[in-house]
Formats: sequence, C-alpha cells, structure tokens
Amino acid sequence: MAATLPRRDLFELPAGVIYLDGNSLGPLPRGAAARAASVIEREWGTELIRAWNSAGWMAMPGRVGDRIATLLGASEGSVTTGDTLSIKVYQALAAALAMRPDRRIILSDTGNFPTDLYMARSLLDTLGQGHELRLAAPEAVEDCIDETVAAVLLTHVDYRTGRMHDPLAVTRRALDAGAVMIWDLAHSAGAVPVDLTAWGAEFAVGCTYKYLNGGPGAPAFIHVRPDIIESVRPVLAGWLGHAAPFAMELDYRPAMSTERMRVGTPSIVQLAILDAALDAFEGVNMNDIRAASIALSELFIREVEARCPSLALASPRDPERRGSQVSFSFAHGYEAMQALIDRGVIGDFRAPDILRFGFTPLYLGGVEVIQAAEILGEVLDGNLWDDPKYRTRSRVT
Ligand SMILES: *Cc1c(COP(=O)(O)O)cnc(C)c1O
Repeated sequence: MAATLPRRDLFELPAGVIYLDGNSLGPLPRGAAARAASVIEREWGTELIRAWNSAGWMAMPGRVGDRIATLLGASEGSVTTGDTLSIKVYQALAAALAMRPDRRIILSDTGNFPTDLYMARSLLDTLGQGHELRLAAPEAVEDCIDETVAAVLLTHVDYRTGRMHDPLAVTRRALDAGAVMIWDLAHSAGAVPVDLTAWGAEFAVGCTYKYLNGGPGAPAFIHVRPDIIESVRPVLAGWLGHAAPFAMELDYRPAMSTERMRVGTPSIVQLAILDAALDAFEGVNMNDIRAASIALSELFIREVEARCPSLALASPRDPERRGSQVSFSFAHGYEAMQALIDRGVIGDFRAPDILRFGFTPLYLGGVEVIQAAEILGEVLDGNLWDDPKYRTRSRVT
C-alpha cells in the first residue's frame, strides 16, 4: 500500500518553523541520530577495525548507492557513493573526455551551478589539450549540440529558478551527435521522477544532503551506464577503486564495476545517516511525491501572487517545466529572506535577487504553505524587511 503524504513524523522538525529549504539541506530524519550513535558506539567502539568486514562498512558505498539507484530508475550496481558532488562532476567529465579523444568542446549552460563550471574549467586547465568549455543559454543549449561536442554537462533542475531540462530529448540529441551526456541530479534526486535507464545518459551525478536528507557533508553519488563501465577511465585512481585494493599492487587496475569510481576511505558515519534517511522514501512512489510537490508549489504561487504584487515569479509558470522549487525575484530579496527566517519561514536567497522556496511533500503540507505565503505577505506589505539588522550578509545565504 502506498504511504500517504506528508510523513512528517519521520522527521525531527523544530516547532514554529515552516521549512522551505529542504532543497538546500534536508531536515534531520528521525532515527538518523540513533543510527549514527550505533555506528559510533557499537560498530566502531566495540568492533574496531573488524567493522570494515563485520559491520559491512566496505560494501556500504555500493549498498547505499543501490538504494539511491531505485529512486533514479537505475539498475542495481550502477550507482556508488562517496566524496562530494564537485569531485564526482570532475570524475565524470574526465572519463567522458577520455572517451572522445578527438573532440574538444564541452557544452554546458549559463544556468548551471558554479562549482560544476569551475570544476570543468580546472579539469581542462590540468589536461592542457586545448579543450573549450562552451556555455549556451539554457533554452538554447539543446540546439548547440553537434558533432564537435565531446561532452554535454547539464544540471537537470536549475538551482536558481527550478527550470527543468527535457532529459529525454537532450540526451537523445547528445547521443545522436556522438557526445557523452552527463546529468547533474543535485536538485532532482528525491524531488522529481528520474528514469536513468530510459534517459540513457552515460553518467549521472548528484548530492544527497538536499532532497535525500543525508545531512551536512553527506556523500555524493555517481551513476555509470552499465554497458560502458569497462571503458571508463577513472581520473582519480584511488586504491578503493582498484580491482583488488588489498592486493596492494604497485599498479592500478580498475574494478570491473561502478566501484572504479570510488576513490579513498568512505565516510562511514555519514553513509549510515544517509542510509537511515533513505528509509523515508520506502513505500513512496516518486510519481506521488511529484504530484504532491506540484500541488504545493501551485498553491504557493497562487497565494503569494494574490498577496505580494512586488514579487515577480522567476520560475517557469508551467509546473511540468519546473522542479520542486519556486523562486521569486525581489530587489531587496536578501533582507526579505532574513525577515522571513526571523518569523519562522525558512527559505533561502540566491544572488542577485532570488527568494527561493523548496517543496518537499515528505514533510510539508498545504496548511504550512498557506501560512508561509501569509507571513511573506506581511513582511512585504509592512516593509518589515527594511530594517538594518537584516542587511548584514552572512557567509552562507
Ligand atoms: C548543490 C550543488 C552542488 C554542490 O556540490 P558539493 O561538492 O556537494 O558542494 C554542485 N552542483 C549542483 C548542480 C548543485 O546543485
């Protein structure tokens, strides 16, 4: 039987808070702290180094990867976890370029998250082979894919506006042109239905501390299409991606599976927390999460637009073209978000002027969405944001 949403009792949410920032850092799943404590006290504390075998630590990156694979329509064994998303972007792109040695263009778009572009440029600098990172407008990127392109590196859901690419059409175009397709699913995993098997892209990467609620510092994931794994050259050839790490050979031989994308020792406590967090997705269909997310975001847009004429919708109006977030632009967006947070409505601000709100049906219902819109209306109506205490910028916005 399908679970009904929301499942708020599965999360520790502080009283008096309406949390609309699960797209940036998911809340603490109930049971995660106990799971971490058990790994620390029982496994590490009593088993010591034996726990790598006795508690299954060494297999955890793949075991947790398999749980993520089921949410992404990917086959068992095609996803592994570890490191950070920035590193997984680097690994995927480096492998892609090695697969297309006679091509020099990497295509991305101007809506991509900065770290993806920074990592791409730093890889190209290191390679020193004359590659070019070409950026198109998000709406135009599909038409820029041609037979000079080695790799297409795109984030499925735009972190700022929530605008969503058509993954089937873009991937088909890339594969037809002989380019390697890499999807960044940072704002997709656990938020919108993903079907990696149907999409057919060679690589997909993502993080797990956003909609998957794995906590700050949770490991990233990488998916490699199973039929190409043996031709994927791991650029970060760490010992745990070796076919036989404990053979301690002087030369690197990659594992004949997605495990070759592992680098070094996995963060076991974080993986255990992520494992516990994924329990919240058990028995829930991603299509039901999507339907609930669209209902919540449509409700929010309606309620906000009725109250806040000074805000402009910065997300696509068509819910089919939008991920699980809604953004509005407002010249005093930073101050307005601080005033909102002060009143218990937590979203976030993205430069230069975006108020961003994430919708997470696992723990959010319509009543809170209406309350959040009411409070936003009060903040704007009464110019409550126009207060010196809201002007000082913090390190993290
Ligand atoms: C959140 C996010 C990241 C973050 O990368 P980390 O290495 O985990 O800090 C990268 N790319 C995209 C598209 C993101 O949304």
